[in-house]
Amino acid sequence: MGPRASGIAHRSVADLIVAVATPPGRGGIGIVRASGPDVSALIQGILGRSDIEPRRAIHARFVDADGSTLDDGIVLFYAAPHSYTGENVLELQGHGGPAVLAGVVSRCIALGARLAEPGEFTRRAFLNDRLDLAQAEAVADLIDADTRATAKAALRSLAGDFSRDVTAIVEAMIRLRMLVEASIDFPEEDIEFVQAGDARGQLERIASRLDAILSRARQGQLLRDGLRVVLIGRPNVGKSSLLNRLAREDVAIVTPIPGTTRDTVRQRIEIGGLAVHLVDTAGVRDLAAADDVEKLGIARTWAAAADADCALVVVDAASGETADDAAIAAGLSSSVKRVIVHNKIDLVHRVGVGGGGGGGDMAARARREDHDGCAHVFVSARTGEGIELLEQAVLDAIGWIDALPDQFLARERHIVALRAARRHVDAASVLLFGATPPLELVAEELRLAQDALSAITGAFTADDLLGEIFSRFCIGK
Ligand code: GDP
Repeated sequence: MGPRASGIAHRSVADLIVAVATPPGRGGIGIVRASGPDVSALIQGILGRSDIEPRRAIHARFVDADGSTLDDGIVLFYAAPHSYTGENVLELQGHGGPAVLAGVVSRCIALGARLAEPGEFTRRAFLNDRLDLAQAEAVADLIDADTRATAKAALRSLAGDFSRDVTAIVEAMIRLRMLVEASIDFPEEDIEFVQAGDARGQLERIASRLDAILSRARQGQLLRDGLRVVLIGRPNVGKSSLLNRLAREDVAIVTPIPGTTRDTVRQRIEIGGLAVHLVDTAGVRDLAAADDVEKLGIARTWAAAADADCALVVVDAASGETADDAAIAAGLSSSVKRVIVHNKIDLVHRVGVGGGGGGGDMAARARREDHDGCAHVFVSARTGEGIELLEQAVLDAIGWIDALPDQFLARERHIVALRAARRHVDAASVLLFGATPPLELVAEELRLAQDALSAITGAFTADDLLGEIFSRFCIGK
């Protein structure tokens, strides 16, 4: 396959790049990797030989310009196009010390290579059709993955699961476009033509496939980026204690003095394999009663709440939901899912319960009640009772489906593209289901939908987007 042609001129890639591929610091092995159309100068200059057999590990001395030894290690040569980048690649596996590796890299540069930019190896793999764009992104996501579930999903994207689904929808769109565009050429019988081809049925099937992939991609994005959960509520209801309980460690300062959490405290936790960024906020108090520092904290509370996926509205179980609590909940944007947490159930007593003649009161039980489309979970941050119920309620609130088979990883960019495609399909639908469908406009909407989808795999992608994506990679990948 030739280099990727996107209709947009790509920068020349015909030079030799080099970088340390292993992480900085000291390690058992350090790998220097070079890629380019021609690595023979490196093979000659560093190894003192004219060529080496591809894909065969050899032991060699790496030599400097004056013949002195730079290092001693294993060499692997991958001949184009059978390499990660699709170019000729030379891998020098030496000792993992910063000085040794710097020496080898300098030698490569002296022999005509230049330092690779972040993600440049993967960018070349993309430009040479070794990977599509969603797969290239999955490479970075796999490296960044910090839970096993995320790593697994990244691997599925890397294997092309997500891309294949997207491509299948693009192909269905192309078939429908061909039908609609052919009909435009025969204006007399155009309507019969599209009807015979079941254009409406095809469009409906495309829409439902888009919906399905969109909900999986949304879940894939949560898996990648984590869930943002904010704790809000009046001072002293136990937000910081809940944060500590959920995090299973002491992160936030817990004191009985209202307004202790003056700034937001952030903590990364995991619920059911999903990363959760938990934000404890300054207690929302009456602004008039707050000093300046507190006012700042309150402002940050609302800023954190505005971009959260889910808010835990913490109330005191003893007093139940007060007017103040309701006002706090009402201040949340409607897009933020919420769970009402009735905390301190250990202080609430169920009178006359309990066996034996003592007639002793017992603390209220942890439980969950769902009403008005909202879960109310009764917990105690002090004893830990009900915390699992709360965790499950959070997952339910955001619509998380546990252990979806074949879950792939997705990014915000993919969701935006899928939504754009869905909008154009909707627009095409409205036009197509009218009495006299304007087929040119239908065709145009389908074209726009297809372009939006194609941006995911990079079949249709602007250079600046590529720059943006690859610049976030680490150097050497
Ligand atoms: P915040 O201001 O909402 O962050 O509240 P804190 O977490 O600082 O807690 C305020 C006070 O309530 C502290 O004295 C906590 O020990 C106490 N507290 C928090 N959660 C519970 C609970 O579940 N049961 C009881 N008995 N006390 C709690």
